[in-house]
Amino acid sequence: MATKYDRVYNYNAGPAAVPLEVLEKVNEQWFNFQGAGMNVMEMSHRSKEFDKIHNDTIDRVKQLLNLGDDFHVLLVQGGASTQFAMIPMNFLGEGDVADYINTGTWSTKAIKEAKLFGDVNVAYEGKDVDFMHLPTQDELKFTDGARYVHLTSNNTIKGTQFRTFPNTNGVPMVMDMSSDIMSHPMDCSPFGMIYAGAQKNLGPSGVTLVILRKDFAATANEAVTSMLKYQTHIDKNSLYNTPPTFSIYLMGEVLQWIMDNGGLEGMEARNQKKADMLYGFFNEYPDYFKCPVEEASRSYMNVCFRLPSEDLEGKMIAEATRNGFIGMKGHRSVGGLRISMYNATSPESIEAVIAFMKDFMTKNG
Ligand SMILES: *Cc1c(COP(=O)(O)O)cnc(C)c1O
Repeated sequence: MATKYDRVYNYNAGPAAVPLEVLEKVNEQWFNFQGAGMNVMEMSHRSKEFDKIHNDTIDRVKQLLNLGDDFHVLLVQGGASTQFAMIPMNFLGEGDVADYINTGTWSTKAIKEAKLFGDVNVAYEGKDVDFMHLPTQDELKFTDGARYVHLTSNNTIKGTQFRTFPNTNGVPMVMDMSSDIMSHPMDCSPFGMIYAGAQKNLGPSGVTLVILRKDFAATANEAVTSMLKYQTHIDKNSLYNTPPTFSIYLMGEVLQWIMDNGGLEGMEARNQKKADMLYGFFNEYPDYFKCPVEEASRSYMNVCFRLPSEDLEGKMIAEATRNGFIGMKGHRSVGGLRISMYNATSPESIEAVIAFMKDFMTKNG
């Protein structure tokens, strides 16, 4: 293959591609990080070298998302799945109600956890339309006095995405942004909390970013076990116990790469360009390529599509793999094909896969 280091075109949904420039930089620093004489993973998490890496990573999150002093930025473990439980554990109690917008598998899982701690009102149920549509404002049924409104910004499995957010009349929104955080500029002020596992848009697995608005954090329940209590991590700047040091370092490098590539405006332009190319190509050949998601709800991170038959789908996935296009199989719960193209995926990569699919269509018309 003609790519540098014989790397494949990587459309994995997560863990997913990391910018090559980041891997090259990490490679240069592998044996001796900036004169420390060791790899970052060999450092004490209490050393001054790691302290700088840790705080630089947090500062970059604040800079990129324009977060003022009214937000905490935490780096925790356990993935977004642990957040599904930590959120109601910290913010729901007996007699409390939380509103949940159900737009797919991940929201469904978040709802299941919340029900263990308090009352859940499903403000929108997408199951009835197979999650192919995201609710408009007038389809949302909020509860008066809800503790928070939970939503999933990008539905990784079904391929839908909110890029503008509901109006919750001042009720703090809590949002799972695991698969599209830092993919476009946004105003964080209406959010009580934003969280994301790093392994889709921020680098490697093992670290979870939690952004908490201070006034919302101040309303949390007291009686929560230490590791699962946000206040513990707030008080200790996410260094209560050993953090995932290497993952934090890599996340910091990915954030630096975002800054070097135009920040969130740069990412949005890049992502829009890829989405226009790919959905545009599918629209040109609607008899061959079908996107089941309604147009207004389509994600520009995870593009799901079908071919005329399951046989052709299997054949395309196999031929794609042989040709170095990896990760194009749809989630096992959905079938079909999916191209995940997070920030790290280049427009050239999408150009290449379109050329491959066009050629496949010609040969298998
Ligand atoms: C991948 C994903 C998750 C699960 O993340 P883990 O880190 O594996 O727990 C949750 N929500 C969304 C939207 C995801 O894409």
